[in-house]
Amino acid sequence: MTKPASPATPEEHKISNFLRQIIEADLDKGTYASRRWAGSPGDAAHHAKGQPDPAKIRTRFPPEPNGYLHVGHAKSICINFGLARDYGGVCHLRFDDTNPEKEDTEYVNAIIDAVKWLGFSWSQPGNDKAYQASDYFDFMYRAAEHLIEAGHAYVDEQTPEEMRNNRGDFGKPGVNSPFRTRTPADNLARFRNMRDGKLDDGAAVLRAKIDMASPNINMRDPAIYRIRRATHHHTGDTWCIYPMYTFAHPIEDALEQITHSICTLEFEDQRPFYDWLMDRLCEGGLLGAPAPKQYEFARLNLTYVVTSKRKLAQLVTEGKVSGWDDPRMPTIAGLRRRGYTPESLRLFADRIGVTKSDSWIEYSTLEGCLREDLELKAHRAMAVLDPLKLVLTNWDEAFGAGHLEPCTLPALPHSPEGQPEPAARQFTIGKEVWIERDDFAEHPPKGYKRLSPPSNQADGSVTPGSIVRLKAGYIVQCTGCLKDSNGVVTEVHATVFTDTKSGTAGADSIKAKGAITWVGVADGVRAQVRLYDRLFTEGQPDAGGRDFLKAINPDSLKIQEAWVEPSLKLAKPDDKFQFERLGYFVADRIDHQATQLVFNRSVSLKDNWSK
Ligand code: ATP
Ligand code: MG
Repeated sequence: MTKPASPATPEEHKISNFLRQIIEADLDKGTYASRRWAGSPGDAAHHAKGQPDPAKIRTRFPPEPNGYLHVGHAKSICINFGLARDYGGVCHLRFDDTNPEKEDTEYVNAIIDAVKWLGFSWSQPGNDKAYQASDYFDFMYRAAEHLIEAGHAYVDEQTPEEMRNNRGDFGKPGVNSPFRTRTPADNLARFRNMRDGKLDDGAAVLRAKIDMASPNINMRDPAIYRIRRATHHHTGDTWCIYPMYTFAHPIEDALEQITHSICTLEFEDQRPFYDWLMDRLCEGGLLGAPAPKQYEFARLNLTYVVTSKRKLAQLVTEGKVSGWDDPRMPTIAGLRRRGYTPESLRLFADRIGVTKSDSWIEYSTLEGCLREDLELKAHRAMAVLDPLKLVLTNWDEAFGAGHLEPCTLPALPHSPEGQPEPAARQFTIGKEVWIERDDFAEHPPKGYKRLSPPSNQADGSVTPGSIVRLKAGYIVQCTGCLKDSNGVVTEVHATVFTDTKSGTAGADSIKAKGAITWVGVADGVRAQVRLYDRLFTEGQPDAGGRDFLKAINPDSLKIQEAWVEPSLKLAKPDDKFQFERLGYFVADRIDHQATQLVFNRSVSLKDNWSK
């Protein structure tokens, strides 16, 4: 596996947050200095045989491979991999596949792609592997038997309804199960019956024996193993019992010698059980102390999108989008196809920071990060998305029939320091050029600085046609237009001032009202342009459990046949451009070809979303 380039930038190191403070304090105190690492995950005995852990800290990113990662996961990835990078640690990629689900290597591969594309690596000397939680089923089973033998767990055969009723609620303590006082030997035999398939699905569960009166409902004897006859994508039919997430997750962390287990705030109430379980397994000698600790941060809520794999899956399966990588999707794959860069997403994660209180981030913050990154990098180009033909009626007379005058513009207004200037763009101007339809107005509003024809005033005077520069070309004066039988303008006419070519001595001899972008009819290239808008019409489409599908924006995609300047013939999939005056665009990574150019609008030039 090749190691992606380190994404470290000086800014990313600077901003402190509560997680950094915790880690720095642990490093100061040497909380984890005594840990050993045997080169692979394992129990206390396994790691005892290893070396002192060369990783100062270990974090992990533990997605469930049941969908594509979204922008919320990007935040988590940047936090976990970023902390490991900054503090001499390692971040593990772990597939949390303890739920027996259908094999989906598509999701596994998409997750690997997304993490690498963001610029992070989990590889360590002698180990390039991503971990998978299902590899730990044997240990989890052993841990469960240990808890039973130590009197910390029992098999409960109440019906699910009885269990629910006896759990109590916020103001009411729970009621002990009648099966709670069985002996360890009895429980062990029954748990083995569960394992051996002698009980039906749902007939019994294994519960931790803690405190049915705890004010924290998660400590009221939580279920830790259930019976479920399902074929697991890695372990097949080996097991008909599966560990519950709350039991499995701390164990996964401990076997991997994780030091700081960072998760979202929903898990705050699970922390006491996390610590309880770690204490029981450390005192039993199954795991080596010090155990990992859980820390919670606020999940990312981003306006105008949904960040839940389940809901995103629904958009895909119900055909609301073209797939997980549809450029309107807030998936990492979708953002990438939309033209987002790894740098822009890392900048976003950095900018929103890490806090302990939930809030909503404006979508425009994400867009701002992309603009900021592309402003310095994206080559400029001219394009006309809604073309109207402009005919320079005195061209042949002025320059000779068929004459094409070469024009040039730099690819970047300012090349990044220390980098060679990219080759300038070359194109030509002739008798006919394409302009944007809205760069012509027959009856211009006040202050209009683009093309408008001469007009008769009430007092009998005539206002002359407007004078405008065709960027990098000549100054022209509008003389009129042609219209079809419906009154739709089909062609605009103007005359060219011959001595006013940009960059020549006469360029300023006539004053133009403004400059417009254009593409030559002679050398313009056809391109399909996909204009994306927000996928939902509401800022919080799924707030309060609302049906987010009802808030879908029916106009989130507009496809236009555009003209673009000839330099774009060389565009490769994923290449990013600023179409002058129009926005940032990317050559679509799936559909763009040399013979059929396809550009997605990544983001407009200015923020026209917020307020
Ligand atoms: P989803 O509901 O979308 O499936 P999840 O939390 O169930 O999300 P996991 O695959 O279990 O998804 O998540 C892997 C990691 O990503 C977890 O540590 C989780 O806390 C984190 N994560 C998921 N969603 C967000 C979010 N919106 N903001 C920050 N971190 C997130
Ligand atoms: Mg999940």
